[in-house]
Amino acid sequence: MDTVCHDLRLLNADLHCHSTVSDGTLSPTVLAQRAKEHGVELWSLTDHDELGGQAEAEAAALALGMRYASGVEISVSWAGETLHIVGLRIDHRSAVLRAGLEAVRSGRARRARAIGDELAAAGIAGAFEGALGFVGNPDLVSRTHFARFLVDSGVCADVHAVFSNYLVFGKPGYVPMIWASLGDALGWIQDAGGIAVVAHPGRYRLSRLAMQEMLGEFKDLGGAAIEVVTGSHTPDQYREYAALALDYGFLASRGSDFHSPGESHIELGSLPALPDTLTPVWHNWF
Ligand code: AMP
Ligand code: MN
Ligand code: MN
Ligand code: MN
Repeated sequence: MDTVCHDLRLLNADLHCHSTVSDGTLSPTVLAQRAKEHGVELWSLTDHDELGGQAEAEAAALALGMRYASGVEISVSWAGETLHIVGLRIDHRSAVLRAGLEAVRSGRARRARAIGDELAAAGIAGAFEGALGFVGNPDLVSRTHFARFLVDSGVCADVHAVFSNYLVFGKPGYVPMIWASLGDALGWIQDAGGIAVVAHPGRYRLSRLAMQEMLGEFKDLGGAAIEVVTGSHTPDQYREYAALALDYGFLASRGSDFHSPGESHIELGSLPALPDTLTPVWHNWF
């Protein structure tokens, strides 16, 4: 790649989003075009537990003159909470990573049937089939697809209302799930030569102490970065996680977590720049 023509911190990097290969509604090619239209210069597609969109995303990004980092967002269970760990610059041909992700995905079909059963018990019929209709592959069914079904069938006004009233702890359609361990996810990312990033840390229901324990364990396992500027963080959370990144010596990442034009209020490439006290995760990529 040629040299960067301005401050790397100001590079418009969007290192987190989803395509139809997981729970987004746009194909990798259409997402790449949208990223380009919104000024993204360095892009990563990070589908949940799945690498099937990487070759298409990379080809589309390079054809449009964007830099591309291969990516994935791995579902992890830690101390009873679900965490998401993004792997960037992974070799998507890694057999270890592929086998690990396949194991994670294989739990989704069973869980999706259980969610369907729970919703049926709450008086909502046909949810499993409805959710499956939005993705086609039982191993890729996520709560987002159930959310789309619940909106489509008139049960909820929008996806936000779904996650307030259904599919979450204590509400109809909640099914507990055990995903990968933190050690497994980091091992797979490292085997694939990638960099591990804690996705949207502000979204986890962890006490301050538990967050510190998690970040300490992540660092001990070789984790290198956290998302500071992400679609679900408030400006206060940018500051809070910037301070934690400095405390732990983590690099910082930036990503919209864009899923769909109708559902995501944060557009690709539109978030503020990283705070200038931080080192971007992409600082030595070019
Ligand atoms: P799953 O991996 O099947 O548990 O589904 C998790 C997905 O649901 C996330 O990747 C988000 O896309 C979506 N999601 C979870 N919580 C919310 C929320 N509060 N609002 C909108 N989408 C959410
Ligand atoms: Mn998602
Ligand atoms: Mn996530
Ligand atoms: Mn995501």
